[in-house]
Amino acid sequence: MSAAPRIGVLALQGDVREHVLALESAGAFAVRVTDEPMLGTVDGLVIPGGESTTMSKLALRDGLMEPLRERRQDGLPMYGSCAGMIMLADRVLDARPDQETIGGLDITVRRNAFGRQVDSFEIDLPMPAIGPADFRAVFIRAPWVEAVGTQVEVLGALATGSAAGTIVAVRQGNLLATSFHPELAGDGRIHDYFVRIVRRLA
Ligand code: GLN
Repeated sequence: MSAAPRIGVLALQGDVREHVLALESAGAFAVRVTDEPMLGTVDGLVIPGGESTTMSKLALRDGLMEPLRERRQDGLPMYGSCAGMIMLADRVLDARPDQETIGGLDITVRRNAFGRQVDSFEIDLPMPAIGPADFRAVFIRAPWVEAVGTQVEVLGALATGSAAGTIVAVRQGNLLATSFHPELAGDGRIHDYFVRIVRRLA
């Protein structure tokens, strides 16, 4: 692989542009993925935040769900943020009945888990895998991780507040997921970490 890996952002719906910019800052060559031929060209894929039910519907409509599953099974590194985390989860609570996921991450997530009062919030999150300083995590109608399989590494759990202990960042092999939105934080360490996963350096 060349020095700059080619990383796609699934561009069906959601905050695609912010991820493109964050990936470019992390030294990747970022492209928008809207179809199967384009999916075939990338070394890694980001699934952005947005609305997982809509993303699922569009992926099915555009015939992308199966190609996404196949590339994931072939080992394509994927990083899902918020709705993207839901898209990578094997099990979703409070899903819409017709909602499907790419799957691959042996986790159970709950959609919109933090409830009305705290629809959106920011918190300092310890995440030792990306460095000693806390990450300023932005949550927007976020899912949380309710259960993880034995192969799943927990990268981040809330350290303070009423939801302390809640898992919000995980990794399983080449799959990375966060409940929150690092592309909005002005801190590139999670995108850097994903680029290292794609380059097999992390
Ligand atoms: N609540 C959204 C969902 O279920 C996720 C929100 C987000 O991605 N910011 O898909």
